[in-house]
Amino acid sequence: MSSERLRLMAVHAHPDDESSKGAATTARYAAEGVDVLVVTCTGGERGDVLNPGYGPAPEGLEAMAAVRREEMAAAAAALGVRQRWLGFVDSGLPEGDPLPPLPEGSFATLPLEEASAPLVAAVREFRPHVMTTYDPSGGYPHPDHIMCHRVSAEAFAAAGDRERYRGLGEPWTPLKLYYNHGFSLARMRAVHDAIVAAGGESPFSDWIDSRQAREVPERQVTTRIECADWFDRRDAALRAHATQIDPEGWFFAVPREVELATWRDEEYELAESRVETTLPETDLFAGIRGTEHAR
Ligand SMILES: [Zn+2]
Repeated sequence: MSSERLRLMAVHAHPDDESSKGAATTARYAAEGVDVLVVTCTGGERGDVLNPGYGPAPEGLEAMAAVRREEMAAAAAALGVRQRWLGFVDSGLPEGDPLPPLPEGSFATLPLEEASAPLVAAVREFRPHVMTTYDPSGGYPHPDHIMCHRVSAEAFAAAGDRERYRGLGEPWTPLKLYYNHGFSLARMRAVHDAIVAAGGESPFSDWIDSRQAREVPERQVTTRIECADWFDRRDAALRAHATQIDPEGWFFAVPREVELATWRDEEYELAESRVETTLPETDLFAGIRGTEHAR
């Protein structure tokens, strides 16, 4: 067994995604001594101010990027993790019919190799045992989230290959790739039922109805990380993104005592593994921890 630290890389599209997807898991692993690095693909400069209590929006992409850098630093501190930017420009969420084209040069418009190169370099430098990202749909249909999935899968596949992405560091082969599953139907239904049973008003009613009506196929959950003791860190990290997160809004609509009583973990799907493991899992490092792979 090696004394070297386990390393977890969580790849996200925008600042704030790390706080709304898998945040308590990263806080828990960091608290337990795992080296946790959040990688943020874009600066989030095309995000709108979504918090009505925030005040006037920063003017222009640069001003927004500067505010979001500060918010990200505060969120990373709340989670106890390190964070690094890949430096791409936010593509924005296109709206309208027909949808307008994405801004030229933005993250989601780039060729895959160009968009993946900085992440491959980061993987070779940080040498994660485990990586997390979004499922192929992006988890939600923002072009940067879909691109985040694509570059993560590419880096997971190629970072260990000496013949690819030459000049970007010594090859490193990550061992497991996971998809974040923030809001499974099972989770929403359990929390919804608990709120209704307590006589409250569920924030999930419409969502559950529309999801059932559309028959969105549920992705597989292979891995549950118990992390309720770190939900307060997650909440602090969410609040740090003051332009994006309304403290009276959706992310805080579930009473915390209901959440603690009904759903105490975060869910993942093991997408690829280069080590032996047994499903279901309760540890992202299952098959790595305590083995010769933990180097
Ligand atoms: Zn995002």
